[in-house]
Amino acid sequence: MTRVPILMYHSVTDTPNDDTKPHAVRPSDLAEQLAYLKESGFTPLTLGDLVAALNKNNGRSMPDKPIVVTFDDGYADFHSHALPLLDRYNFPATVFLTSGWVSDAGKEAAGRPLDDMLSWGQAREAAQTGIEIGGHSHSHPQLDQLRIEDLRQELRRNKGLLEEKIGAPVATMAYPYGYSSARVRREVRKAGYFAACAVSNTIAADRHDMLAIPPVDGRQGHDHQHVQARRRRHRRTSHLPARAHPHQGVRGRAQDEVRAAAGARKCLGSGRGSSPICATRCSGRATR
Ligand SMILES: [Zn+2]
Repeated sequence: MTRVPILMYHSVTDTPNDDTKPHAVRPSDLAEQLAYLKESGFTPLTLGDLVAALNKNNGRSMPDKPIVVTFDDGYADFHSHALPLLDRYNFPATVFLTSGWVSDAGKEAAGRPLDDMLSWGQAREAAQTGIEIGGHSHSHPQLDQLRIEDLRQELRRNKGLLEEKIGAPVATMAYPYGYSSARVRREVRKAGYFAACAVSNTIAADRHDMLAIPPVDGRQGHDHQHVQARRRRHRRTSHLPARAHPHQGVRGRAQDEVRAAAGARKCLGSGRGSSPICATRCSGRATR
């Protein structure tokens, strides 16, 4: 079994607002973390690359010490702060974009972005440098609470817009807030996604399929009741402690968190049911 950590970031800035602060990371901390991962011999993959390697698509095999770095929501500071660092360290990554939040979404605008967001041009530019653009719904609702037609609309509109605007197939997604259900996963599969990131601190290697890749949250003291409740449930049903979500204000600790996550991380297998994927992403209220 291969263990693959999946790190999850949100805003990358020295000046987060109240909404983004709980999950923001300083550019200098991100730089340190990427440098650490590079020096430690990790091989960065996009989530799509990881799935391809798991399924051995086109003869792809799993590299030594694989790791996946992801960014949720599509903040404008991904383009200004994260992209230059990823480029410097030659790190591919996956950005999960909420299409209704894009800064020039125009008549497609939906939901309430938490901060300045990427434009379509910036997302395209990132994609051209090897960044994978994945789905994150159209308006960022809690998908498991939607009526079936609204759920389908969220998924298909998001995937359709991303593919139209970016000009590349979209095969992966992350659930807003990490929430999913059997129904949501079924619709995600029907919408044409091959893999999706969910939420949990821990993972039961044999229980999760490609549409429920658990995220990891290293943050302590999360204030989202539902997430906490879910985490407790996951703890009961799984054996893998997960998580590392480096964030603002933990300058000295951030690297330790990444180190712990990268070193302690999980499983990985292929296909649904038989082999598990383990991940390190996080979610929560401000995860947006
Ligand atoms: Zn989000």
